[in-house]
Amino acid sequence: MLEWDYKDIIPIDLSSDCLFCRIVRREIPAQIVHEDEQALVFKDVAPQAPTHVLVVPKKHLGSLAASTDEDLALLGHLQRLACRIAEGASLSSFRLVTNNGRGAGQSVAHLHYHLLAGRPMAWPPG
Ligand code: 5GP
Ligand code: ZN
Repeated sequence: MLEWDYKDIIPIDLSSDCLFCRIVRREIPAQIVHEDEQALVFKDVAPQAPTHVLVVPKKHLGSLAASTDEDLALLGHLQRLACRIAEGASLSSFRLVTNNGRGAGQSVAHLHYHLLAGRPMAWPPG
């Protein structure tokens, strides 16, 4: 069943056909660097920096804007987890970013934070 998220123009597939849900369920392989009860972290298939991993909640949320106040602890967990992964890799500088909506560059409709590091980062982003 496909439903349209009123907050954006990205189809949220509730039939569990979501790419990142499938990675969470191990139906699609990924280079996993961390797993806990709430989150999975894996390498981006098309890295944009020497370190480029995706910090993904196991719960399906179509985007950051699809979260609610019920997800406050989960969102905090994802950000703290990104810090711990950066610390574990001795990365003092890193960028943590989520693209919300197609216009912002979101291509996978399951909330994820990009953790990028290992090269100089320009600002503003393109
Ligand atoms: P977005 O464009 O939604 O902000 O980020 C989606 C990211 O997922 C992209 O950086 C893209 O390279 C990555 N990606 C897309 N498909 C796959 C996949 O099958 N496996 C992995 N590991 N990453 C993927
Ligand atoms: Zn999903």
